[in-house]
Amino acid sequence: MSDEVRAHTALHVLKGAAVEVLGVKWTSGVSVNDSHGRLTLQLDRKPTEDEMRRVEDAANRVITEDVGVEEMVMGRAEAEERWGDLVYDLFPIPESVTELSICHIPGWNVNACNREHCSSTGKIGSLTISKYRYRANKGVLEISFDVG
Ligand SMILES: [Zn+2]
Repeated sequence: MSDEVRAHTALHVLKGAAVEVLGVKWTSGVSVNDSHGRLTLQLDRKPTEDEMRRVEDAANRVITEDVGVEEMVMGRAEAEERWGDLVYDLFPIPESVTELSICHIPGWNVNACNREHCSSTGKIGSLTISKYRYRANKGVLEISFDVG
């Protein structure tokens, strides 16, 4: 399994951690390069260092628990009925798309995503937040991380 697949899967785990600790809802950007990733989230305040440590800890807890990552294709209406707008990010999916590829980490994160994922969170190895930056003018938090 490639570093990119591990780093991409880690985006889903990190998002779940940010939802739990910071109460975020929307992802506004993602990028992955080898074992490095960056997740950009909408947030209305600068998080504390302690909160960011807890985000990292929560992500690693789910990695240690080695939760199975489910991938499924389902009708868009059915997905919305089950999870509402949780399946979406801020980048829109065209109206014409009627079936969604769903990545589901039970109890942790669900997202419409057609990329390749690890079969379970343990395969990520570990996640380290290398830096983060809060952009007050845009109201976004950028979290850079490495998987190892
Ligand atoms: Zn994905």
